[in-house]
Amino acid sequence: MDKTVTDFLRSLDRSLFLEGPAKRYADYDGPLPIGFDQTISQPSLVAYMTDALDVDKTHRILEIGTGSGYQTAFLAHFAKEVVTIERIRELSVTAKERLDDLGYHNITYIIGDGTRGWAERAPYDRIMVTAAPDEIPPLLIEQLRVGGKMVIPCGGRGHQELVLVKKAPDRSISRTKLLDVAFVPLISD
Ligand code: SAH
Repeated sequence: MDKTVTDFLRSLDRSLFLEGPAKRYADYDGPLPIGFDQTISQPSLVAYMTDALDVDKTHRILEIGTGSGYQTAFLAHFAKEVVTIERIRELSVTAKERLDDLGYHNITYIIGDGTRGWAERAPYDRIMVTAAPDEIPPLLIEQLRVGGKMVIPCGGRGHQELVLVKKAPDRSISRTKLLDVAFVPLISD
């Protein structure tokens, strides 16, 4: 893994993204509750996914599932700009407050259904999805730039795989399985 990602993982205080009793367990390398039946992801997995997405300072990134904003901080740190979509308003608002406090001003917060992406700013160099659909939403593939990459957990409640999707110059799509994972479901409104 790129050292800049592991260094950032170490430098970012995860307790800032937690509230109430969960705050005490911030150092635990596993998912934790953030309310509304949702979870903050496992830190080592967030670092792994950031590394797999291969982000640089020229990239515009679309993130689906803002949640606590923890993964968003990694993306905002390594990319030029981030558009992050969350369907639960309260989570989006709280994430924005935290990321504003941390000094990240290259993030646009959208409240809505991320399965439709956000056509206004498409195409995206990179897409990060942090909730699992049964199948990759076609609009996300459409909004991915040619030569772009997407990291997405796929496969519903039973068995999920983290997949790296690449869009080739001829617009064909390749999928590489990275890991078995367990994410909350991507809910289509
Ligand atoms: N990356 C987050 C983890 C988020 S958990 C973090 O680090 O904290 C997944 C999030 O996806 C939840 O907040 C959930 O509300 C959101 N979500 C689920 N379906 C969605 C959809 N269709 N559009 C946008 N957000 C969605």
